[in-house]
Amino acid sequence: MAEPEKRNFDDGPDHRRTERLREGETGTGVGPSALKYAAARAESTTEISAAVKARQQRYVGCLRKLADEIEPFSSVMLESAVRSVRDLAIAVDDHRKKCKCAGCRLRKTPQNAFLIVAAVIRRTAQHYKLHLEYSDLQVYLERIGESHSARKIRHYGNIGIDILKGYEEDCYGCDANAEIRMTDEPTLTMLDRMTQGATRICEALGLPYPTQVRIHDVLKAWNARGFASSTTSTIAAAAVWSVVKSEGVELDAVANAAGCSTGGIYTTLKKHA
Ligand SMILES: [Zn+2]
Ligand SMILES: [Zn+2]
Repeated sequence: MAEPEKRNFDDGPDHRRTERLREGETGTGVGPSALKYAAARAESTTEISAAVKARQQRYVGCLRKLADEIEPFSSVMLESAVRSVRDLAIAVDDHRKKCKCAGCRLRKTPQNAFLIVAAVIRRTAQHYKLHLEYSDLQVYLERIGESHSARKIRHYGNIGIDILKGYEEDCYGCDANAEIRMTDEPTLTMLDRMTQGATRICEALGLPYPTQVRIHDVLKAWNARGFASSTTSTIAAAAVWSVVKSEGVELDAVANAAGCSTGGIYTTLKKHA
């Protein structure tokens, strides 16, 4: 397991290494470029401090544990997310070195690494067109014994993602007041999120509008009685399935459109029966 990880890391972007190589191109250095590359590469690995390496290990450990719970999160997504959290571990130090702002919100990273890797999982999933809500992450985290509100996961997640973006663009958006703007975002109710999720599934399946309305009514009824403990997409998919199962739509098609398992839909529908 250690070997492919190392390869991922070596293949991953290292901004400082790239810069050094660019400098080398314009410099007067002699010797084959492959040798220079190898030297720069060796240098870039020794450059990472023990503290950053420990943070990388912590992030990757938490990432793997959480990703394991998310069935539609593929191994390709995991590889990409591993690269991102390793960069993030470097970026946290990089920002602290470069930032001159008193009370910068990007310095307030969480003690608990799960809170920061959750948002990286969400961002990576989004890149691969897999939609994950913070409320979904809350459910997945609860399954591994990590109890945090969706709001808290989003708050720390935004800090992590902003640090990562700053590192990737070599320009940190430091702002002591930025989190005030962030919390001004309208908050969706549970029913809103389920309804949005169901609409996305309906659109993917090309279901007619009257069917969508019936599905929304199912969700309203479930909401009145209380939703089962499951992810947004699974509950939305179960509501869709409850309406379309008698209309010749395959369960597999619903599961694919929702990005969840057929078993999950089945169990969730039973809970609402
Ligand atoms: Zn700053
Ligand atoms: Zn800053």
